[in-house]
Amino acid sequence: MNSVRQWWSLPVDYGWNVAYARSQQALHVTRILIGIFCWFYGAAAAIALTIPGLGDSSLGRLALWWTVVTTLPIGLAWLIGGWPSWRMSIAFVLYADFVLAAVLLTVDEPSEMLPMAALFTVMGSYVVGFHGPKLFTAHHLFAFVTVAVLYASAMVDDPAQRLRTTLYLVMLILVMFSAPLICHSFLMLLRRDATGAFYDPLTGMQNRRGFDAAIGNLDRRPGTDAVVTAVVIDIDNFKAVNDRFGHEHGDTAIRLTASRILDVFPAPAVTVRLGGEEFAVVCLGGLDSVIERSEQLRIRLCDATDRSPLTASIGVAHAVVEARGVEAGIDELLGRADKAMYRAKRLGGDRVAQCSDPVPARPADER
Ligand code: GH3
Ligand code: MG
Ligand code: MG
Repeated sequence: MNSVRQWWSLPVDYGWNVAYARSQQALHVTRILIGIFCWFYGAAAAIALTIPGLGDSSLGRLALWWTVVTTLPIGLAWLIGGWPSWRMSIAFVLYADFVLAAVLLTVDEPSEMLPMAALFTVMGSYVVGFHGPKLFTAHHLFAFVTVAVLYASAMVDDPAQRLRTTLYLVMLILVMFSAPLICHSFLMLLRRDATGAFYDPLTGMQNRRGFDAAIGNLDRRPGTDAVVTAVVIDIDNFKAVNDRFGHEHGDTAIRLTASRILDVFPAPAVTVRLGGEEFAVVCLGGLDSVIERSEQLRIRLCDATDRSPLTASIGVAHAVVEARGVEAGIDELLGRADKAMYRAKRLGGDRVAQCSDPVPARPADER
């Protein structure tokens, strides 16, 4: 009972799953495959419409036609659109489940339609891949009720084939519930542990891996270029803090620095501990407000009431990052902010420096 409660409340987040798939370059190909599979559903319904005896009832024909007509634009949206938001993704699951149930329950011959309820497993894999336990349970409950209604109708409709119908039911239960349940449970546990690998244990801030996964989310409007500003922060002469106050105090100072960075640059800015006493922030939007906030941070770090007031060198750079190359664009931007940070350090530290390199121009045909 305890493990069921734990499973139910596992903090699996749709956004995290999508960001992870994006960071592994798996999102694009998944989107294309889902689009193609939508069209497969449409093709199957079109074939069913041509089979004599199948879909003879007007409701059945309507459900099949509805499938043909709606899978075309939905497949296209997957192929050429961006990845759907959480709400749109849930709407997609509801649409697919209701359309499949409508076809199964209205096309004639429930005994012939019963094995086809295995198609619920296709949407089940999408739910396992991207959603959590609640939608997983809702989808499987819905599939179960549809199968139960189909089974009861088949038993009444064709009493001579009761044994065969029951055999179909047993096989369906195996296909629809055994593998998805095992995959879902293991995937949930793996995800719970994997989220830990995205955070730095000392500060709780994202590490480089978590950061790489999170920057994909920066592009709020899919397909559009964005003005992005990066900040690199390095504590000055931190080795002396360790030498003078001890490593443990050094750890406390790093934790305090991280929490002050998070205060000054809250989400949706993406923050990262790059390593040691070096941090970075990436956020959408204008340079001026980021420089202003960097100055606030510099002043907050050097709090005279601290046991060891710190100073930091802060580098800021901004650029238009293309939608098609967000990861490469942000890497380049961080490199420029890092250069600016070293310039601040060479000038004596305890200052904010802006990258003096010209903002890389985009080719005219891309503007
Ligand atoms: P600079 O002004 O040039 O940045 O000098 P610095 O001493 O800050 O930089 P340097 O890179 O030479 O040294 C960084 C120090 O940070 C060395 C290392 O002992 C310390 N450090 C790195 N990670 C940790 C950590 O997790 N905890 C503690 N306490 N110290 C750390
Ligand atoms: Mg340093
Ligand atoms: Mg350093």
